[in-house]
Amino acid sequence: MEQAKRDLEIFLDVTMETTSSLHLVDVLRAITVKVAEHLNIKRCSVVLVDEEKGCCLVVASNDNPDIGGLRIYLDRYPEIKKVMDTMEPLMLDLRTDPILGEIRKEIDLPDLSVLVIPIIFREEVIGTFLLRADKKGGFSSRELSLCRSIANSSANAIKNASLFEKLEEHKDKLERANARLTELDRLKSSFIAMAAHELKTPLNVINNYMEMLLEGIGGPLNTKQAEILALALESSTDLTMIVDEMLDLSVLESGQISLDIKEYNMVEVIKWVLSLMAAEFGKKWIRVVEPVGKFTGLFDNKRVRQVLINILRNSVKFTPPGGEVAVSVEDEESELKVMISDTGKGIPKNEIGRLFEEFYRVESGEEGTGLGLSICKRIVEMHGGRIWAESEEGKGSRFYFTLPKGKW
Ligand code: ADP
Repeated sequence: MEQAKRDLEIFLDVTMETTSSLHLVDVLRAITVKVAEHLNIKRCSVVLVDEEKGCCLVVASNDNPDIGGLRIYLDRYPEIKKVMDTMEPLMLDLRTDPILGEIRKEIDLPDLSVLVIPIIFREEVIGTFLLRADKKGGFSSRELSLCRSIANSSANAIKNASLFEKLEEHKDKLERANARLTELDRLKSSFIAMAAHELKTPLNVINNYMEMLLEGIGGPLNTKQAEILALALESSTDLTMIVDEMLDLSVLESGQISLDIKEYNMVEVIKWVLSLMAAEFGKKWIRVVEPVGKFTGLFDNKRVRQVLINILRNSVKFTPPGGEVAVSVEDEESELKVMISDTGKGIPKNEIGRLFEEFYRVESGEEGTGLGLSICKRIVEMHGGRIWAESEEGKGSRFYFTLPKGKW
């Protein structure tokens, strides 16, 4: 009874050990030490199946804390191979057992009893406990059943720990890949910023010279020449806009800008933008409904104007002549909500979720870069706000963005 009680204690001890850590080698080494002490034997090792066929790894041993996954070949250990094949425990005498006949011809095996217990997980042998003792008459049936119980309770822990180790390995790899991607992304942004910046200066010079020619500064132009030059200037102005947007986006992406936050009345900011764009609305006879009231918030005026201009330019672009564009502001407790609605062609439902992606454009025949809305999203999110769109095809679109009122 005393012996049975001690067996139970060691079993409980080992079970607790298996849940104490997810570090496989530590857990197994603690188990082998406990078992070797308890059974008073020379050696207790845990041998796990290796990915390489015909091989195993000795991952823990009571008598060698630094065994560190020693690789062994199963043709040199026929007793382990047999247990793996039969899934049954095996007890034998190193000096006399016929299974070791071939090995004995080569080396002088010590006079020891060996017990090999399979560690089975979901009907698959994932390793073995290997016990060596100089006991005459081998291991008792009590010792055998104790070792079987320990092997069973270790199986789960071994599997969990090895899964955990694999996960950790993957996590490390992912973290490294992520750091590399972030760096590449930063390089891409600074490359675009540099390229766009370098393009801007000569483009401005070209535009200025074309304007001068059109104004007749270089001498009178005939009608055909003026027409051709006007077309060239139009395209080159478009190109300047694209370069500006690329520069904007890359600067925002690089995270190297800081917001200039002050208190403003959102209604006034919107009215200022609407007056700036009056000519664009006028060209298409679009009726503009201005917001009313006073809604103050803390934001970067220049950046928020840029958001409004980008959204409103789209409203003008996609609204047919004679339509209507309305802007309103609402106070939503902790944030200001701005809505820009138009009576334009609308946006197909399946495209709405992607509008704010870089370079995403809905097939429309209209010109554009697909960058305007992604710039808006960056700016709004830098303020801690949200931006989204709703639309009914054929009836119009509504763009919303929010800005937290008191975040700064
Ligand atoms: P761009 O206008 O330069 O193409 P944006 O990022 O500003 O790029 O817009 C992305 C796409 O979203 C546009 O190409 C257009 O298809 C769609 N879109 C944006 N605003 C509206 C709107 N008010 N009405 C209809 N479609 C719109």
